Amino acid sequence: MIDKDLDEVYTLKQIPGAVGETYREDGMVVMEYSSPSMEVHELRHGGQNARNELIITGRGESPAWKGGLGHLDRLSMEVDAYKAQFGFSAGSMPKSRNHGGYSFGSINRKYLQGLYDASGNLLYPGI
Ligand SMILES: [Zn+2]
Repeated sequence: MIDKDLDEVYTLKQIPGAVGETYREDGMVVMEYSSPSMEVHELRHGGQNARNELIITGRGESPAWKGGLGHLDRLSMEVDAYKAQFGFSAGSMPKSRNHGGYSFGSINRKYLQGLYDASGNLLYPGI
């Protein structure tokens, strides 16, 4: 039996203005970012895939989880990645309508529920 991790290729793609996303494309796990703090965040998602904590899927798609679990796993995945980002650069944390993001302990579901994109849409509506 071949461990899937041995076959997978990971690549980092820096694109100015990128919002940050890790996705699977052409058989590779692509970690797309624009800033160093976003790179740390997306690297965490690549690591989560490598550790089989989730399965990164196509661009714009929600990652899949072993066992078909849902929003609670998405929540823990993002809390993990935002904590890594916070550890690298506390000042890089996005502003949340619900506040938080100013300490490890305040990076939680409420914080994530208040994050929004440039158009004002919630980033994680399913959480
Ligand atoms: Zn993330």
